[in-house]
Amino acid sequence: MAYIEPAPIKDKENPLESMMERFNLAAEKLGLSDEVYNVLKNPAKQVIVSIPVTMDSGKIQVFEGIRVVHSNILGPAKGGIRFAPDVHLDEVKALAAWMTWKCAVVDIPYGGGKGGVRCNPREMSAGEIERLMRGYTKAMLDVFGPDKDIPAPDMGTGPREMAWLMDEYSRAKGTTINAVVTGKPLVLGGSLGRTEATGRGVMVTALAAMQKLKINPFQATCAVQGFGNVGSWAAQLLEERGLKIVAISDISGAYHNENGINIQEAISYRDGNKGTLEGFDGAEKLSDPMELLELDVDVLVPAAVEDVITVKNVDKIKAKLIVEGANGPTSAKADAIINEKGIMAVPDILANAGGVTVSYFEWVQNRLGYKWTAERVNRRSDRILKDAFDHVYEASQKYSVPMRIAAYIVAIDKVAKTYTFRGGF
Ligand code: NAD
Repeated sequence: MAYIEPAPIKDKENPLESMMERFNLAAEKLGLSDEVYNVLKNPAKQVIVSIPVTMDSGKIQVFEGIRVVHSNILGPAKGGIRFAPDVHLDEVKALAAWMTWKCAVVDIPYGGGKGGVRCNPREMSAGEIERLMRGYTKAMLDVFGPDKDIPAPDMGTGPREMAWLMDEYSRAKGTTINAVVTGKPLVLGGSLGRTEATGRGVMVTALAAMQKLKINPFQATCAVQGFGNVGSWAAQLLEERGLKIVAISDISGAYHNENGINIQEAISYRDGNKGTLEGFDGAEKLSDPMELLELDVDVLVPAAVEDVITVKNVDKIKAKLIVEGANGPTSAKADAIINEKGIMAVPDILANAGGVTVSYFEWVQNRLGYKWTAERVNRRSDRILKDAFDHVYEASQKYSVPMRIAAYIVAIDKVAKTYTFRGGF
């Protein structure tokens, strides 16, 4: 039977189309040749496999697994594996390209990849998920490899699944190869500093942007949407650097306190309250959680889900600086209005690249057979993120473009130059 693509979601600004719109803008500014444009537009490799899994009922169910390598010109492909019921090839292709740009922006020697398995992990037992992860790994034995393609967790997967992947791959190769995957549990070769890495990168790029905008952190206010891994770490680290965090939110709602929220208290509350802020009394609950985005603050950090700043609400945004912790929180159509309003937006491919940077450190440590201290990890990732910010800022000045397009310019320019120097086609 022919492979059937599920229909795209209609009536919604698609974050992946948004990515292509920005790619096109940057390619035009750079004057990218048609040849290189076509190479970069198409993924280098697309693999689709069928994975038979014995379910707890004793029946065999067949799942579809995808892996896309968008580019491996700068080094092995890098990118997560998504377990979700609606994951499809087009989405994985776009996310793989996104990884190419993200790695190139922070100048780490990786290309971009992404994987997906169409399944609903919430309805599966741990045993079923393990058999599925091992089946996917077996099917991808020739695709994955520490020098070829290095997966990581994404939606629906975490350290547990990465441990199974590492084990299955190592069994097949006859020796322990922990550098084949990142995001592993610490005891299997995970890196110190990985948990806070993305929030930390948000903090570093936010401070660098505030310096350019002449915003004093000790007099600045900030609202953070999303209080999971990225949001709560970003809030905590920004608070430590002097910012007053006046609003936070999660799926339970948004919480506002003009005098500042004690982030440590909010984290302790969440951790003792089944992971949610529901009932948090260190702030007042807003009647509409989306109001958080419209508060009169200096810095806004969207760190929850995609497409929250759109043409519908962008007019009401008052922040001077947006730092995108989440992937794709701003739709491409909202970009133009953000720029008109003179708001600086540090784009996702720069602001949240702290995660992939420390994943890279995990791989480096695995290959060295040596563990770095958290202090060394943080120091090196801070430097990488600050340098990346400076390069993007310089490009934004040079090409007179907003930071987002500048980030794509830096990334595409690097990949395009590498193609041209390497040649061979
Ligand atoms: P997470 O699951 O730990 O946290 C997500 C948070 O957002 C939770 O607090 C959840 O309650 C909240 N949330 C969900 N829907 C919401 C809504 N509609 N309004 C307000 N809050 C809502 O996830 P995370 O790892 O912190 O990832 C957050 C974002 O950052 C995602 O876009 C992810 O792709 C991106 N990101 C994460 C990493 C990483 O290292 N974790 C790296 C790069 C990018």
